[in-house]
This record gives sequence, C-alpha cells and structure tokens, in this order.
Amino acid sequence: MLSLENIYEDLKNMIGKENVSISIFDRINYALDPMPYDLAENEIPYVVVKPANAKEVSEVLKYANKNKVPVWVHGSGTALHGATRPKRNCIVLSTSRMTDVKIYEDRGYLECGPGIRVLDLSTMLDKRGYFLPLMPGSRMVATVGGGISVNTSGHLIDSCFGKPIDYVLGLEVVLPTGEIIETGTKALRRPSGLDLTRIFAGAEGLLGVITKVRLRLVPKPGDEAQGVAFFKGCLPIAKAIVRMYMEKALPPLFCELLDETCVEISFGMRGLEAPEGSAVVMLKTTGYRPGEAKWKLEKIFSAFQKENPIEMRIVDDLHEWEEIWSCREVIYPTLIQKKGPAIIGEVAPSLPKLPDAMAEVLELPKKMETVKNPEMYLYGHIGAPTMHPHFVVPAHLSNEERRRFVREVRTKTEELNIRYEGAGGEWGMSFQRIDFIKRKYGETYYNILLGLKKLLDPNNILNQGNIEGW
Ligand SMILES: Cc1cc2nc3c(=O)[nH]c(=O)nc-3n(C[C@H](O)[C@H](O)[C@H](O)COP(=O)(O)OP(=O)(O)OC[C@H]3O[C@@H](n4cnc5c(N)ncnc54)[C@H](O)[C@@H]3O)c2cc1C
Repeated sequence: MLSLENIYEDLKNMIGKENVSISIFDRINYALDPMPYDLAENEIPYVVVKPANAKEVSEVLKYANKNKVPVWVHGSGTALHGATRPKRNCIVLSTSRMTDVKIYEDRGYLECGPGIRVLDLSTMLDKRGYFLPLMPGSRMVATVGGGISVNTSGHLIDSCFGKPIDYVLGLEVVLPTGEIIETGTKALRRPSGLDLTRIFAGAEGLLGVITKVRLRLVPKPGDEAQGVAFFKGCLPIAKAIVRMYMEKALPPLFCELLDETCVEISFGMRGLEAPEGSAVVMLKTTGYRPGEAKWKLEKIFSAFQKENPIEMRIVDDLHEWEEIWSCREVIYPTLIQKKGPAIIGEVAPSLPKLPDAMAEVLELPKKMETVKNPEMYLYGHIGAPTMHPHFVVPAHLSNEERRRFVREVRTKTEELNIRYEGAGGEWGMSFQRIDFIKRKYGETYYNILLGLKKLLDPNNILNQGNIEGW
C-alpha cells in the first residue's frame, strides 16, 4: 500500500512539482461540486495533478492502475449532479493545462485540448466566422472536454443543431490502463459502422481521458432573430411547444422557459416589463440568408398564437435582448444567491406528453416528503423539451437530510421520465441515475455498460463509484 508521501513524490517526478498539489485548499476545491451537501472525508482527494498532454496523462494512469489508486477526471467541475465529486480518496486529474487550439480552415476542422473553456473557444471561432455548437449555461467556465464527455447541447435545441457528438470527427483518448488511442478521422466524412468516438463522447470520464478533440467547423449563421412570448402560466407554453413541432415550424436555436416567479424576480431585478403573473418563452432563431431567421420566428409565433399568449413580440434591439436573455442565463445563480442552495431536477418527456408531464412537475412540491411543500421554481430548455424544477434546500436541514432531499428530487423526477417516455441526463449525472437506467432499460442493458467499463478499466480506476451509483 502506497503512502500519501509516496504518491506525491512519484507524481512530482512524473510531471513536475509545480503541477502536483497537496494543498488542502486545492484538494477541497477540486472535490467540491454544486451538490448542496458537505464533502465527506473520504471524498477529499489525496492530490491534484495537472498533466500537460496525453503522454503525461498516460504516465499518471499507468501508475494509478498499477497501484490501484482511483483517479477522478476534472474539467471545470460544474457537472450538476455529482459526476466530478470523488467517491473515494483519489488522484484528481485536472485537464486545465491542455488548452491548445489549432484551427485548420483548409481541412474544415479544429483540434483542441480538452481543458479549453467553451466560451474561449467559441469566441475564437466567432472571430473567424464559425459557430461552436456547444452552449451550456456554464460556458464561461465549463471546458470543451467536459461538454463532450457529458455530450450536452446545453441551451441549444437538439433538433436544430444536434448534439456535440455530431460534430466530433475524432478523439485522442488515454485509456485507464495508460494506452493512448486515436479514434475517428481527419476526413470530413465520418467513419460509418463501428466508431469508438461515439463510445468515448458522453462516457463521463468512465472509460478514458479525452486529451484531444477534433471538431468539424460550422459556418456561423449570419442572420439571427430573437423574440419573447408571455403566457398565462407554464401550461399553455407546453402546449405551444407541441404546436411548434406539429405545425412544422423549424426548431429555433434555443427556446427557454421561465415560470411566473422566475419572471417576477429576474425581470424585476433589471427593471424590465412583463405582463403580471406571466411565464415567458425566450427564443432565438438563425439563418444563413437575410430575413431567414425572422421568417422562422414568425412561423413559430403563428403556431404559438393558437395557445393564446398574453403578449408576443420580436426583439430587434440587441441591448434589450441581452437584458432579457440574461434573465434566463443567470436564473440558477440568481436563485441560489437569493434563496440558498438548491437541487435541480431534469424532466425531458416525449413531445405529446409534454403538457401532462409539465402539469405533474408543477405538482411535485406537494408530493415531497423529506421537506413538506418545498419552494420550487421552473425553468429549462422547453423547446428541447427539457424542464428543470429547481428546489430550494431549506437552510435548517442537516447534512443527512440534504442528501435525502437530493435523492428524493432525483427519484421523483426520474419517475416522471419513466412515465413520460424521456431520458435526459444532460449534466453528466449517471452517478445519480443508475436506478433510472436499470428501470428504464433493464438489467441486461446495465450489465453491458458494466462489461464495457470492466473491459476498458479492469481495475476500476476512473471515476470509481459513478457507474455503481448511489
Ligand atoms: C450555472 C450552470 C449552468 C449550467 N448549464 C447547463 C446547461 O445549460 N446544460 C447542460 O447540459 N449542463 C449545464 N450545466 C452543467 C455543466 O456545466 C455542463 O454539463 C458542462 O458541460 C460540464 O463541463 P465541465 O468542464 O465543468 O465538466 P466537469 O464537470 O469537470 O466534468 C463532467 C464529466 O466529464 C468528465 N470529464 C471532464 N473532462 C473530461 C475529459 N477530458 N476526458 C474524460 N472525461 C472528462 C468528468 O469526470 C465528469 O464525469 C450547468 C452548470 C452550472 C453550474
């Protein structure tokens, strides 16, 4: 059995002492995630390492595998449901030094390190007339490697621009046993048939560490339009979204919901006007020809009209739009700041079931047992459709009660996903949804996942505990 001193010394020799930290601040910082309960002692890592490239990652993993020391992969640690919180004392492997970007316009792709922040890459691309189809609300800090590893489209509507995986041409991955492999292609035609790229993207760090990402370049849509539609509560919005698809309106880039209280809080804070007691949908459409985006938005509005909005308008003034959009963009941190820690659910029903699923989501507080009638707010990527019920965690709860409350929210929202035919999972939340996976897909499916993990990670080094669930 290695001592902490041995591990520290060995890792320093491997990747340089300035890239290995045993400071208690770093160890806690790299273990904390947005979960509203305290870190347990066995969740605090021994050490945090920051390798510079695939070769160094490989050395760290070979060492960990040989000595059976667990390793947690860390992008920026913003995954909302426990993915990056270690479940054992371990090595945390941060990707923060792997930030190289090379844009090959003549080849139609870019290559980047996993640690580059989403906002930084998207700003770089924007300057060259390209668009990054990766847009989590956390993009100011979230990494590209983290986004690909949870395969999240964030605010973007899947049926408009697809998922990040649709743009990944290839990956460099270090396996838990230390081998470095390449997947995919440098050609624009992606491999058909068996392609391991699809296994590693979305694997939440369970099967390997992504050390390089090759992404197809997407020309930026030059035309944009944005609008807001206020309705009397959330339910007509659910019906309006169903109509949007039924009437063959082209899906917008994003289409976001805030319930009545969120509107009151966030519009109120900015001095923006909103009809009293209204919930809102905010939309952005895009196009490649002048007028195309507005045409798409008008088509959506004409579908919405049948659900009797209180007010609906195109927002041409970009300054006004920034103000309106920021109401949605920062609703999660705003509520945390005003109301305290929270646990958020994710309900992503099938399209025809959206209105019924939403009605049940709105009833959730009455069904909670750990906390009676907790404060709940509703927002989300409603055009996707995804709803995020945001439950405030009362300050008086003990740590154990907070854990129970988190679990109850997860169980009750997953129950709705089963009943209303959804899957979701966009935040890298497998650790909290193994029961859901077993219920929805069955033991055979889960055993295939375990088999894959065992094949690639025979000593269960990477993100240990996440595939076992809580
Ligand atoms: C304010 C806020 C808003 C958010 N909004 C959204 C949203 O709109 N949509 C959404 O889907 N999510 C959202 N999230 C959740 C989260 O930010 C995203 O899922 C984000 O993509 C995670 O990126 P990260 O760099 O923080 O990854 P991390 O949290 O560090 O990691 C996520 C998972 O991927 C693994 N991983 C990270 N890097 C690698 C790598 N290089 N190789 C292998 N595995 C790796 C980790 O081990 C972990 O399991 C939000 C979070 C916050 C705090």
